[in-house]
Amino acid sequence: MARGLMRLYERIDAVPALSAEERQLIDSVRLLARERVMPRAAAHDRSGEFPWDNVRDINGLGLNQMFVPEAYGGAPLSYAAYLACVRELSQACAATGIIWATNFHAVAPVIDHGSEEQKHRLLPRIAAGGLAALAITEPEAGSDATHMTTRFTAEGDDIIVSGGKTFITNGDVADLILVFGKWTGSADRRQAISALIVEKDRPGLRVLRREDKMGHRASSTVALAFEDCVVPRANLLAGPGAGLPLLLAALNKSRPSIAAHALGIARAAFEDALAYVNERRQSGRLIIEFQGIQFLLADLAAELALCERWLWHVAGLVDTGAADFGPEASILKLRASDLAMRMTTEAVQLFGGYGYIKDNRVERLMRDAKITQIWEGTNQIHRRIIGRSLIARA
Ligand SMILES: Cc1cc2nc3c(=O)[nH]c(=O)nc-3n(C[C@H](O)[C@H](O)[C@H](O)COP(=O)(O)OP(=O)(O)OC[C@H]3O[C@@H](n4cnc5c(N)ncnc54)[C@H](O)[C@@H]3O)c2cc1C
Repeated sequence: MARGLMRLYERIDAVPALSAEERQLIDSVRLLARERVMPRAAAHDRSGEFPWDNVRDINGLGLNQMFVPEAYGGAPLSYAAYLACVRELSQACAATGIIWATNFHAVAPVIDHGSEEQKHRLLPRIAAGGLAALAITEPEAGSDATHMTTRFTAEGDDIIVSGGKTFITNGDVADLILVFGKWTGSADRRQAISALIVEKDRPGLRVLRREDKMGHRASSTVALAFEDCVVPRANLLAGPGAGLPLLLAALNKSRPSIAAHALGIARAAFEDALAYVNERRQSGRLIIEFQGIQFLLADLAAELALCERWLWHVAGLVDTGAADFGPEASILKLRASDLAMRMTTEAVQLFGGYGYIKDNRVERLMRDAKITQIWEGTNQIHRRIIGRSLIARA
């Protein structure tokens, strides 16, 4: 790795206030990511098979425990430490990174808003290595989730779930799925939004389809049908009136993790591109000696440094319990994902024709980067969130 880049990384990585125990764990995750996850990434991308080998290795480190409180089988660490792990895994294999990060996205609302009984019953299996999924999107409700039509109907001690969700990461492999829907009988489309946990193998829960995707080919993205799926009322996390605030809070907490994932992809592309331009010669010179190439690399390095610094700024807000960090999280998600797309596209360009060939990782990274601009709120939606936060209100 170029000395300048190494120094940049070292100084930025020193920013978050991590404990010695956290730094040790991140080192173990980095080792696992580089020695086991990264070498398998191309094969998983080609086959599209779910990377159970990586999940097993991640669970070998007990990594889910870091976001589950001790009382429910976890060994909690800071949000900054979690983001650092997401970035390491995603740099090695973006599909594996998002599979692991999604566990947190789905269970954070249970940790923050679940009852004691729910936490004692549901969280230990995630702490022990279970997978989780977060189901919001529907065929007719993407950017505007308030148009979802999945229904929750109370029936004695149960809730009957009917409807369908689309594009659900981990949806076919998850032990727990956090599902958002509308409470039957509540007329207001925002107020009606509620949330409950559907456990694996519930009768009436069916996987309709696994999507064939451009990137993240090994992570599974599925369409789910809920055909009068009976869920114990004890699994209700948020009833009418409480579901939408919970959904928005959940997204605020998962978006920085999407940014950490995008930055992992960006780092991988930058490292490959720098290695290549430092060894490839044309016209008797190393490619990096052309000033036009240096200017491009300088712009990319500047953007990477600033995005990563902002990552730790937002992590600090979460770790210190800031109440409202939505616009900051949106700024981070927007810029990190745009950088991942730009970085990977430029990396392919810097490799010339070789960048277009599957033997080189940058080809995969460019395909993996695109979704980061789309999921967890498209970047248009994030511009909207940031813009609206700037309107002066009386
Ligand atoms: C691989 C993959 C994994 C996913 N994982 C999950 C998951 O685990 N759980 C889950 O719930 N969802 C998941 N999603 C869904 C994802 O979050 C949505 O695709 C995304 O929110 C966009 O919704 P949509 O696809 O319906 O696009 P639409 O909302 O139909 O948007 C289409 C276009 O219109 C633009 N647009 C829409 N509204 C506005 C507006 N107000 N102003 C300006 N432009 C606008 C959008 O930016 C976009 O460019 C996943 C999707 C994919 C592809």
